[in-house]
Amino acid sequence: MSNYKEQIETTLIHGSLRGWSEQKTGAVNVPVYLSSTYHQEKFDAFGPFDYSRSGNPTRLALEKTIAELEGGTRGFAFASGMSAIASSFMLLSAGDHVVVSEDVYGGTYRFITELLNKYFIDYTFVDMTDLDAVARSILPNTRVIYMETPSNPCLNITDIEGVVKLAKSNDCLTFLDNTFMTPLYQQPLHLGVDIVLHSATKFLSGHSDIIAGLAVTNNEELAEKLAFIQNTFGSILGAQDSYLLIQGIKTLAARLKQSTLSAFQIANYLKDHPLIEEVYYPGLSYHRGHAIHRRQTSGDGAVLSFRLPNKEVAKTFVEKTKVPVFAVSLGAVETILSYPSTMSHAAMPNEEREKRGITDGLLRLSVGLEHACDLIRDIDLALEIAAKQVRVR
Ligand SMILES: *Cc1c(COP(=O)(O)O)cnc(C)c1O
Repeated sequence: MSNYKEQIETTLIHGSLRGWSEQKTGAVNVPVYLSSTYHQEKFDAFGPFDYSRSGNPTRLALEKTIAELEGGTRGFAFASGMSAIASSFMLLSAGDHVVVSEDVYGGTYRFITELLNKYFIDYTFVDMTDLDAVARSILPNTRVIYMETPSNPCLNITDIEGVVKLAKSNDCLTFLDNTFMTPLYQQPLHLGVDIVLHSATKFLSGHSDIIAGLAVTNNEELAEKLAFIQNTFGSILGAQDSYLLIQGIKTLAARLKQSTLSAFQIANYLKDHPLIEEVYYPGLSYHRGHAIHRRQTSGDGAVLSFRLPNKEVAKTFVEKTKVPVFAVSLGAVETILSYPSTMSHAAMPNEEREKRGITDGLLRLSVGLEHACDLIRDIDLALEIAAKQVRVR
């Protein structure tokens, strides 16, 4: 039993207290340290904390937890997913080039095309599902290959090990946005990825209550640089939100497994409905990349997208559903229905959207914890009304 490895479900519950050395009270929760500064006992020797931008005990417990969950050595908590992503890109310098998955999160697309470019960092967007295309897009000054799998909103699957191999043979780093899978289902560091990124706003926190981001690495040199950037740029996660995220993480396995079961049922219901033109869900056997996804993950996740004939039908459908909230974001206890064209991908120009399959009829569903029968009944009734509209026209 000496090389027995604890299951992740257990780490999710106990990880935060384990990194906690100052256990005096027996409290089962990490305390919220609302302190910006720390008294130094000695004139010439400082304690482990000095100022909360540089380090805060509650944030540290969270950072140690996410590092352990991802199989990394260091974790970093940021004010948002975007600040975790942007801070990681600060590892680059003017003159560098990045290769980016063409269907990245809309905010990441905006950051790269409208902010990073101001610092003379060049980019190429590429179909990351096509390894030959990835290979062709690597330039002598390419420093980072940026992945997101499954991608948003069409759930395209990237062969992580394939890209890592290309990156390593070209001396590039790999970053991966693991928001959709979480470490419960996908652990990219084990596949050779250098930095794993999260919008912890989504599944990790899980209750639509906070905005948070995380970065994890197992490379000490990168960790030192990220720690420097985190402290210097300063977009850190506050102590109260760190606490809420620790609490959210504890129930991740129970939540995500249940939502995944329901998502699978809903995807199967939708794929047989005559009004639905397409269903995107990595758990469907015919989904492009299904086999690769199953090889590199241990779950299909709770997000799916589907295509209705056009905008008018999509509008009717959204207006007639009663159970999901209609909103941006995903990964919460409540089911969230969203319209990528004007919500998550509004920052993307029209033609770029169309090229990526984000058409006027596309809707994304992040399945929550309501009973699957209630969700399917609600969707079924809305589709029935939407179908009448199609017939009338
Ligand atoms: C939401 C999201 C982000 C951005 O995270 P914020 O916490 O909103 O800043 C990045 N990547 C993915 C895949 C997301 O869903």
